[in-house]
Amino acid sequence: MDLAVEVQELVRDYGGRRAVDRVSFTVNRGEVFGLIGPNGSGKTTTLRIIATLLKPSGGQVRIFGLDVVRQASAVRRLISYLPEEAGAYKNLSGLDYLKFMATFYSRDTRERDRLVENGMTLAGLGRRINDRVATYSKGMARKLLLARTLMVMPQLAILDEPTSGLDVENSMAIRNRIREFTRQGTTFLVSSHNMLEVEFLSDRVGIIRNGQLIGLGTPAELKSRFNARNLEEVFIRAAE
Ligand code: ATP
Repeated sequence: MDLAVEVQELVRDYGGRRAVDRVSFTVNRGEVFGLIGPNGSGKTTTLRIIATLLKPSGGQVRIFGLDVVRQASAVRRLISYLPEEAGAYKNLSGLDYLKFMATFYSRDTRERDRLVENGMTLAGLGRRINDRVATYSKGMARKLLLARTLMVMPQLAILDEPTSGLDVENSMAIRNRIREFTRQGTTFLVSSHNMLEVEFLSDRVGIIRNGQLIGLGTPAELKSRFNARNLEEVFIRAAE
């Protein structure tokens, strides 16, 4: 099986505090992998290391075989990261934001136009794409940011809490977009504290608590192993 992500004995300390404690998991190519856990459990730290934005204190991470520390720029060409607290430039229109972001990916104007075209379709904002981002609802802004993340057709998309704070309809639209992209071969690593949502979306999940991975498997495997009806119950029992 082709591995998109290999995390081995990952450790990250902030000062004296250990935020990620010997975490190991792999993500297969084309899979949606959900990293779930409560607030402060180490999800964002893990994702930022995988996205090459933060250095590990120990252990190793490889993306399609490339080391995130020693081969960071090669890794960056394969991935796209949507941070939890991401914001688009509020005074730009949605379209100008996509155009601006496209300049970071290509110097070729035709290629940039293609990315922006792609981003406009993915955002699905219709004519509102011409309005200032400041006038967007939370759901619209998140769709624009997801479109920015996916318009470059990354091999691996890393999404930190992609549906946080969104209503059912907007969350579903984002989940559908993720599913659609996996059919085109993109691998997803998604974090969430919404365990039920991750259960619907993910092929496999890792459950993290206090920086440690306390469960790993398909939702069905985990439910059967912990004799639970859903992943929330799995979490409660795994944490006991
Ligand atoms: P949330 O769901 O609330 O976003 P999380 O699971 O993503 O949480 P992290 O943000 O990775 O968790 O935080 C893990 C631990 O590391 C927490 O105890 C947090 O306080 C600590 N931490 C995170 N960033 C820093 C930092 N820059 N400096 C010091 N401690 C930090």
